Amino acid sequence: MSATLSIPGFESLEAALKHFFGYDTFRPGQQDVMAAALQNQDLLVIMPTGGGKSLCFQLPALLKAGVTIVVSPLIALMQDQVTALEANDIAATFLNSSLGAVESRDRCDRILSGNIKLLYVAPERLLNEGFLSFLDRVKSEVGLAGLAVDEAHCVSEWGHDFRPEYRRLSELRQRYPDVPVTALTATATERVRGDILHQLQLRQPHVHVSSFNRPNLYYEVRPKERNSYSSLYQEIREQEGASGIIYCLSRREVNELTERLQDDGISAMPYHAGLRDKDRSLNQDRFIRDHVQIMVATIAFGMGINKPDVRFVIHYNLPRNIESYYQEAGRAGRDGEPSRCLLYFSLKDVHTLDWLIDQKVDANGQALENEQRVARQQMRQMIDYAESTVCRRTIQLGYFGEAFTGDCGQCDNCLNPKPVEDWTVEAQKFLSCVARCKERFGMNHIIDVLRGSKNQKVLSRGHHQLSTYGIGNDKTADQWRQLGRSLLHQGLVTETTDGYPVLKLNPQSWTVLKKERDVQIAVARTPKKDPTQVDLKRSEVEALFMRLRSLRKRLADEQSVPPYVVFGDSSLKFMSQQQPQTLKEFEKISGVGRRKLEQYGKIFTEEIRGYRQEQGLPIVTETVLEQDTLPQPKERSKSKKLSSTLAMTLALHQRGETPEQIAEQRQIKLNTVFIHLSELLEQGQPVELTTLVPEEQQSAILQAIEQVGADYLGPIHEHLEARYGYDEIKLVRAWWQHQHQDS
Ligand code: ADP
Ligand code: ZN
Repeated sequence: MSATLSIPGFESLEAALKHFFGYDTFRPGQQDVMAAALQNQDLLVIMPTGGGKSLCFQLPALLKAGVTIVVSPLIALMQDQVTALEANDIAATFLNSSLGAVESRDRCDRILSGNIKLLYVAPERLLNEGFLSFLDRVKSEVGLAGLAVDEAHCVSEWGHDFRPEYRRLSELRQRYPDVPVTALTATATERVRGDILHQLQLRQPHVHVSSFNRPNLYYEVRPKERNSYSSLYQEIREQEGASGIIYCLSRREVNELTERLQDDGISAMPYHAGLRDKDRSLNQDRFIRDHVQIMVATIAFGMGINKPDVRFVIHYNLPRNIESYYQEAGRAGRDGEPSRCLLYFSLKDVHTLDWLIDQKVDANGQALENEQRVARQQMRQMIDYAESTVCRRTIQLGYFGEAFTGDCGQCDNCLNPKPVEDWTVEAQKFLSCVARCKERFGMNHIIDVLRGSKNQKVLSRGHHQLSTYGIGNDKTADQWRQLGRSLLHQGLVTETTDGYPVLKLNPQSWTVLKKERDVQIAVARTPKKDPTQVDLKRSEVEALFMRLRSLRKRLADEQSVPPYVVFGDSSLKFMSQQQPQTLKEFEKISGVGRRKLEQYGKIFTEEIRGYRQEQGLPIVTETVLEQDTLPQPKERSKSKKLSSTLAMTLALHQRGETPEQIAEQRQIKLNTVFIHLSELLEQGQPVELTTLVPEEQQSAILQAIEQVGADYLGPIHEHLEARYGYDEIKLVRAWWQHQHQDS
């Protein structure tokens, strides 16, 4: 489709994609959606989490004249997206209540001067009169290219995230009838989709619905037993430091598990509604920046978390329903890289959930029967999912009305199909033992009797004299438990739910006892690991990956951005596999666009060469390296355009303000001011270094740089025996770098 489109300044849509975002290919659906957007059609884009929705409006915004307005419900999400765009040198900004008046005015000026392509706004701001008249000006002075409504399911009362302000977005349609609207969501239900079309008054929209299959996710269910903690611990260990989320049902469980993991030397933090706001956002931030590996959380965590490189999501308790499970587990692997979703399933959780459902009452304490019934049914489906021997994807996607052929090769059931066995005789033994014990005991006791236990409870009741005593010695307690659970879930026996689970026979049980039917159960084996995951482990590729990951972390910390803003896991993986040693090779890596090539090419290729040298692998010669310069884009070097935020900092600096005063006035972090000043110095802009770092310090730092090189701050800092701060070092280094750039 793109062949018929002419893309100003680019050979093709792919070329524009590579230039701005560094990607070589489109994700399914992206290209069609963009083509429609470039033809100013209205759009409804439905893609699962990680499908790549953002690009669907971002790239067209860069290629169209005027500003694209993006409506987004959460301030944190807005900031993340803008940071990530800026890291690719894309002119984006946001306006929301977190900004001071000066900063807002500055941003509005930049928009009106045509320096911004993407403007993120919260819906409530968008609809106030003042802002609308600002938009009128934008429209007449620079043009409105389009309106993108992110998380569009927020317009629907049927969704889980209804926001009344979203309802009023249709007013924009009326005010600017010729501005095309793109609505985007990961919502799976028909009803919400219909609501979006209607509420936003989309006109003959191009509707794109992606499959909800997430092929990079591996699904597995494990029985939760006494030793499940060690299985969990093992799982985390094998992740070798990669990020993960563990969901628990209650705050107490979150706290307990966090402590236990911490005691075992695992970097974990808790997240639940009982923590103070401040601590919650601190923990979240630590997680996003990879300062902490694991977030142990209740479901309060995750909405609007934009961390693309979560490598595993573990449910340590049973989720409430399949849709929640799909969404929560779906927080793994947004970047499309292989990630694991594990669910630990225990009947105890079923009782807890059941109890929670009983608590659903109205203001007068009356049971909300309808809601309770729905919740129970959903829980039932969840249990069936956990117990099923069918492909996990078939069940999940079926829940959303999507047919899936099964045999996905990426779930426990497909990788280790559980054989179904005829356990009719065992079922009869089990049920008759329940009958002999007069339907007054729970599963453990029944198993004790079957296996001929001599424990006190058995003996004191005289149960060692029953005819069923010891008739089940041929099976382990675990096997009997498997059977018992399976009977429960097949409805062949019942369990009381008042907190003291007692097994009762029901009419179905009698059909088994009277030999009117047989009983099949799937026999679980000890779960094996997904083989695709084991292959790469410990190889050289993996070792280099780890090394590049720490480099990424260091660079991210220096700029105080989350690591994924520097590079995604997929880019690091390509780097470890292809091991580019020159800038020309580096440029070909997916995720390396123009800006990142300039910013990180040198340091990453050096790291890769260093690694290869240590491993005794061939490295390119000096001569190759000398010729390895970036093909300089002419326009760029001619007029290195100063971004307006840098220009602002420079102007204040030239007025004689100290970094502290600049931070104060601009309402930005002091750290950011130092980064600005360093960038300015590196570009050779007129920053008075001497007002920032006294001369004798400068020369000490310069000497250190000559000694240990300029690539990393850490070694310079160490070489100076920590006498000077990182900010000073950063500034002097930037100056030094400018001096050595053009030579
Ligand atoms: P969504 O909003 O649909 O959950 P995002 O837009 O956040 O998804 O994209 C998820 C991840 O996929 C991001 O890390 C993004 O950079 C990456 N991505 C998007 N499009 C592509 C592409 N064409 N090639 C490679 N990676 C992509
Ligand atoms: Zn499967």
